Amino acid sequence: MAPFIHFDQVTKSFGTLKVVDKLDLEVAKGEFVSLLGPSGSGKTTLLMMLAGFEQPTHGAIWLDGTRIESLPSHKRNMGVVFQNYALFPHMTVAENVAFPLAMRGVGKAEAAARVTRALDMVRLGHLKDRRPAQLSGGQQQRVALTRALVFEPTVVLMDEPLGALDKQLREHMQLELRDLHRTLGLTVIFVTHDQSEALTMSDRIAVFNHGRIEQLDTPEGIYDRPRTRFVAEFIGETN
Ligand code: ADP
Repeated sequence: MAPFIHFDQVTKSFGTLKVVDKLDLEVAKGEFVSLLGPSGSGKTTLLMMLAGFEQPTHGAIWLDGTRIESLPSHKRNMGVVFQNYALFPHMTVAENVAFPLAMRGVGKAEAAARVTRALDMVRLGHLKDRRPAQLSGGQQQRVALTRALVFEPTVVLMDEPLGALDKQLREHMQLELRDLHRTLGLTVIFVTHDQSEALTMSDRIAVFNHGRIEQLDTPEGIYDRPRTRFVAEFIGETN
């Protein structure tokens, strides 16, 4: 079966700095794949190229059989969630979630229906009239996630989305995200530098080192059978 997402020999340079180096990665529909590796290893850049915020210097990116590396981001219909998920403090939850729809000119009635559907998906409907300051950190993060789901994307890209949360909340949100991934049948690409987070959440993990993937494997494969010294050492480190 053809992969759903396919990076084909993708290179990205900023000036003379090569941050992604002839990288190949195939992801199946519905998979949860973590990009795991030290800071500066090229994980975010890969996500930015998939989202359409950066262009590859060389190589092709395919999504569901279509070459997308030159498509503008709004034509790719991907949900994106970052660590700095900043909600607009003066807007209610519903208004925050509706914001990307308004930006793309979706009419009021359709926007309202989509917002309700998206908030129900993450069980936040009862909080729709609150402002961000009246929510817990976890609830705020769920609103940011809802904003990413409002276009009903099939692919969701997350860059350290739980990085700002304390340990307990983080573990709770990890379970929620896994749940959401399964029930909505989403394909998720999840950037983290946290080994245990990648090991608990992923179907497969791509371990990054200097713009290359050292190993792409299931959590068990990465943990029990690290193929390089780098993978063994990185997985062995505690945060
Ligand atoms: P990671 O997500 O693994 O921490 P990044 O993809 O953010 O790594 O960064 C990889 C390298 O690319 C870093 O050295 C970073 O400084 C550099 N980099 C990222 N974006 C830019 C940019 N827009 N201009 C110049 N250098 C960049």
